[in-house]
Amino acid sequence: MDQKVQDVIADLKAYLEYLKGMGIEALPAVEEKADKIIQPEGQTLDEIRRELGDCKRCKLHRTRQTLVFGEGSEKAKLMFIGEGPGYDEDVQGRPFVGKAGQLLTKIIQSIHLQREEVYIANIIKCRPPQNRNPEPDEIQSCYPFLMNQIQAIQPRIICALGTFAAQTLLHTDAKITTLRGRFFDLAGIKVLPTYHPAYLLRSPERKREVWEDMKQISEWMAKEDGRD
Ligand code: URA
Repeated sequence: MDQKVQDVIADLKAYLEYLKGMGIEALPAVEEKADKIIQPEGQTLDEIRRELGDCKRCKLHRTRQTLVFGEGSEKAKLMFIGEGPGYDEDVQGRPFVGKAGQLLTKIIQSIHLQREEVYIANIIKCRPPQNRNPEPDEIQSCYPFLMNQIQAIQPRIICALGTFAAQTLLHTDAKITTLRGRFFDLAGIKVLPTYHPAYLLRSPERKREVWEDMKQISEWMAKEDGRD
């Protein structure tokens, strides 16, 4: 075998061992899956919202008050994806408007952006009863609509907030502690997972890591803009 090929294989093996050591057991086939789900003929956000309609595709419609579609700029370069609506979001029909949302607003402002300049969505669009974790069938029902939103917006980078967002977007079971602060790829879009703002409210000592993650995002975007 050609020496170069052997070197690449050796590097790859070492990298996989390194990931394993960090608790990452499998590499997600992210690009392949995402490419299949994202349609070549993209819809606008309005069209996606219309297609969702008074969604009854999963059991959450029975207990929700309002479907929370997402909000922000259709041209956003940065998109935030959380888990699912909580009480306040369910009442107001807007993502991240409760206590965790107020913290998210501050996080966004920490990199000199306003909420209106980014796009904010969730893995699931309806509040689970008592804010329980989203179930696989619920995630599955919402997933194509989220992918279509990503396709419509075409952000350069997605900040995945917390375990559910990171694991769902990256098709992995790896823990958020091993995923956070690292860049991944979703069909050509960068994905950087960080801790969920609700977790930060319970564990404020973790805020520093999120500021660092935001700094990475900001620096990456600045480079992309050719401002560096
Ligand atoms: N937590 C989330 O994950 N999403 C929201 O919209 C609000 C709280």
